[in-house]
Amino acid sequence: MLSGNERDRTTEISTQYIPGWLMNDPVPAAGGDRYARIRIVTALDFERIRHSTICVAGAGALGNEVLKNMALYGPRKLVVVDNDSVDLSNLGRCFLFTEEDALSGRGKADAACESLRRINSDVEFEGRECDVLELDRAFFSVFDAVIGCLDNINARLHVNSNCYYAGVPYIDGGLDGLTGRVQVVVPPEGACYQCTLNASHMKVLDRYFSCSGRETNIPRRRVPAEPSVSALIGSIQSLEAAKLLSGKAQGDSMQFYDGAMNWLENISVAIEPGCDNHGEMIK
Ligand SMILES: [Zn+2]
Repeated sequence: MLSGNERDRTTEISTQYIPGWLMNDPVPAAGGDRYARIRIVTALDFERIRHSTICVAGAGALGNEVLKNMALYGPRKLVVVDNDSVDLSNLGRCFLFTEEDALSGRGKADAACESLRRINSDVEFEGRECDVLELDRAFFSVFDAVIGCLDNINARLHVNSNCYYAGVPYIDGGLDGLTGRVQVVVPPEGACYQCTLNASHMKVLDRYFSCSGRETNIPRRRVPAEPSVSALIGSIQSLEAAKLLSGKAQGDSMQFYDGAMNWLENISVAIEPGCDNHGEMIK
């Protein structure tokens, strides 16, 4: 048990880190609707988020985390795109899926929508069980934001390009073990995902496509995934989406995280003159 002096010292230390305005603020009343605490986050425009239509491309580790966060905001509609089915190996990082989903080989988009409806019945959820490469500009043009939770460069390039020409903001996320990355693309002025690719990335793409343009059967590297880093990167993507939908876009930025080094950095990205998506604009 603390002595009187020790107790005073503890109070002194704990209060010196709390801003004065917070100490003087009345305790908020309990109750209210399910959005009562989100609505009073003044940095966001909750009503704009509530009226938005959002697409999440990919329902894997990142997609699960992004979908959960976006569902809690209560947008008008959330569309989930994934052509894969739930596998037992997904259960280590995808909390929207059940063992039953994995054993029955249920589609990820369908399984995710069922879980999400239990999280927030205010939102209209639509699962699209198809390859994102089959979706065109007209499909992406109806969204207020598209969030990419994809596992390969080619799918990212496709979604990035279609969103760019449709004028729809795109938030791309990627994971590799304890590291992750988030890029915010706001057309038409901002740099896009393709602007950030270097010659090595393009070589990887070349390996996947033969001279005829058809995809070859070279196996992809199995990317390590850790649930805490998936949650963290998915949360950064969700917050960036909420800021974008609130009219507080911060394009031309990329955030890198390294969980082994306790390192998070935000860097600026610029339009790459050689990028196909800015051909008309930079002439
Ligand atoms: Zn570009």
